[in-house]
Amino acid sequence: MAFYMVEKHSPAYSVTWGIKDIIYTEKTPYQKLSIIETEEFGRALVIDNILQTTINDEFYYHEMIAHVPLFTHANPRRVLIIGGGDGGTAREVLKHRGVEQIDLVDIDERVIAVCKKFLPELSCSFDNPKVNLIITDGVKYVQSQKNKYDVVIIDSTDPEPVGPAVELYSSNFYQSVYRCLKDDGLFVAHTDSPCFSFSKHFFRGFWHRINAYFPLTKAYIICVPSYISGYWSFTIGSKRYDPLQDYRQDSSMKTRFYTSELHKACFVLPRFVQELITEKTKE
Ligand code: SAM
Repeated sequence: MAFYMVEKHSPAYSVTWGIKDIIYTEKTPYQKLSIIETEEFGRALVIDNILQTTINDEFYYHEMIAHVPLFTHANPRRVLIIGGGDGGTAREVLKHRGVEQIDLVDIDERVIAVCKKFLPELSCSFDNPKVNLIITDGVKYVQSQKNKYDVVIIDSTDPEPVGPAVELYSSNFYQSVYRCLKDDGLFVAHTDSPCFSFSKHFFRGFWHRINAYFPLTKAYIICVPSYISGYWSFTIGSKRYDPLQDYRQDSSMKTRFYTSELHKACFVLPRFVQELITEKTKE
């Protein structure tokens, strides 16, 4: 083993990654960006020392953040991705042939440029004419859009105490997302792991903030081995369609993780997660 990267999540919890090589690193105007070669999970993108996505398990996350909301919507044509600078989510959204345009809004053009160079398996989506790259703060962009999108996907960095993504988890932001969606629109955000003392209040708080604006709020959980605990949540806020009652199927779509059975099963939450949601938020 050449050396290690320690991914610190709290004073009491870190993850250690055995690394073969640090392929690239850069301090951008917004964050510290690295591409590393890990022993276990292959090439990976790291932002501010938090692992974002690895070649070995990126498809678990990218398929489930894209296909669950897109199969829930009756006819998604205009999709907005906030973040997603590695391109993996856009790659999955493009599999939905009815989608006419994907606006991908990332604050940091360096993430896109570096992923184009070092993670072509993910950034291949940027070559598709349906993908429209917009370099700006997702918070400001969403405030400026009204009644425009069928599906919005928040694929940002985690809600660390500092960094450009903090506001992407605020009530004001979720209210702006509501306004930028069409009357039957829906959105999804990844909402951290419900397993740790330092993250379960994130999950509970996000769910309640979303539920304050959307008539239908549902959380789903999958396993993403390279994310803390491997137990990772997403939360959908929907103006009309129910991810469990209204979802469509397309058996011709090529996926490696998503299935229509898993679409249903991932919404079955363990009791402790249900109780996190039903507990009155302490905010
Ligand atoms: N898939 C990864 C995950 O699950 O954590 C994250 C995907 S991507 C690498 C995260 C992106 O969010 C980065 O490219 C970062 O630049 C972007 N981002 C962070 N804050 C943002 C903001 N306020 N507006 C737009 N993009 C933002």
